[in-house]
Amino acid sequence: MPTSFIPKQAPNDAVALLLDVDPVGLVRNRRGSSGEGYALAQYVNDRPYVASSFLSVALAKAFGTALSGRSKERQELVEKPMNLDAKVAALPCRGGEPFLRRLFEPLGYEVTATSHALDLQFPEWGASPYFSVRLQAKVCLRDLLTHLYVLIPVLDDEKHYWVGDEEVDKLLRHGEGWLASHPDRELIAKRYLRHQRSLVREALSRLVDEDNPDPDQVEETHAEEEAEVERRISLNEQRLGAVIAALKSGAVERVLDLGCGEGKLLRLLLEDRTFREIVGMDVSYRALEIAKERLHLDRLPAKQRERIHLIHGSLTYRDKRLAGFDAAAVVEVIEHLDPPRLAAFERVLFDCARPANAILTTPNIEYNTKFESLPAGKFRHKDHRFEWTRPEFQSWANEVAERHGYSVRFIGVGPIDPAVGSPTQMGIFKLK
Ligand code: SAH
Repeated sequence: MPTSFIPKQAPNDAVALLLDVDPVGLVRNRRGSSGEGYALAQYVNDRPYVASSFLSVALAKAFGTALSGRSKERQELVEKPMNLDAKVAALPCRGGEPFLRRLFEPLGYEVTATSHALDLQFPEWGASPYFSVRLQAKVCLRDLLTHLYVLIPVLDDEKHYWVGDEEVDKLLRHGEGWLASHPDRELIAKRYLRHQRSLVREALSRLVDEDNPDPDQVEETHAEEEAEVERRISLNEQRLGAVIAALKSGAVERVLDLGCGEGKLLRLLLEDRTFREIVGMDVSYRALEIAKERLHLDRLPAKQRERIHLIHGSLTYRDKRLAGFDAAAVVEVIEHLDPPRLAAFERVLFDCARPANAILTTPNIEYNTKFESLPAGKFRHKDHRFEWTRPEFQSWANEVAERHGYSVRFIGVGPIDPAVGSPTQMGIFKLK
């Protein structure tokens, strides 16, 4: 399972790490392995072929001083960000590409992921959780190594060794400087600590203590933690996580949430201080009232309160208040517009507001056959005026981008089905 780091300026300087895991040795060295899976699974499994916690151990062994930020001869290079390019040949991503992006994009990486089928001979078995992943960023080598060290086992959601108290210290040590402000710190801690609730609680409270001494905030975070760590990643969370990741990778500070509804995305934006100014707009006054209530806007400290504004307005009318933002998120809104109003929406967003980045999500109707409770031919929500296939959304978005000088790329959010794709489709527009 080769993993390589290649400095971009000098592509000849590449380091490759090849890890050879002995599957028989794995079984021999295992304590109390009885009863886990079927007997043969101890010998026949993916461990020798994929990046996992074994790779983290190998990284620590092979690059121990780099990982800890020490250099005998060239200490000045340790703090120097470099254009680095890391490739992981087979990375198990439980949670799919959106989760992979959610982990690395907020840390500033450009992520390229190639998905692999479970078995080329049986395409009907669908996609595997394995991806070939490339990560590019201008970072210090130590940071790249620590991100890989922590996040590989998180993506794999598995560890080959017993996880105890000292693992919390390890997580906090390697997470120093980035984990506390990562939008997915709860999930990272939960998976890293193998879902052991007491350890996760300890790690999160220590992270919060270090990051944020405000006692009210700590209290609130603790109350939420319990619910948070218990919750599986719902489609809605994956979608919002993917939107946040796309915003973070665009270096966005001033952001619009258009059709913000009851404020689920606004809450995440508020939690992250990189978003300096947040404006939520909706045509429904009632939705705005609920958002105001849920976000406790009346009770926020003045500094927080200044960051967010809710405005009442419609996306089908030109509105000067929307101009001059770094990004606009339009999450699950376009399908609520009458098709003849789409042209007006297009002008309002791409011509009048004209943010540097725009992130649009909408249901992928092809996936509806996978929802057992949804009768054939029905939309997911009674207020939806239409739902699009992937080609329909992409051709509309490509034309819009072309007309207004944007580039656009598409990603699916949620579980990927080889035939019908993911339940949500996302278009990420960038002003050229
Ligand atoms: N973005 C939110 C809400 C999605 S529901 C979320 O992901 O949770 C769609 C929202 O779009 C509703 O709140 C609805 O009131 C709003 N909406 C519908 N037509 C609109 C228009 N013309 N202008 C602004 N908002 C609109």
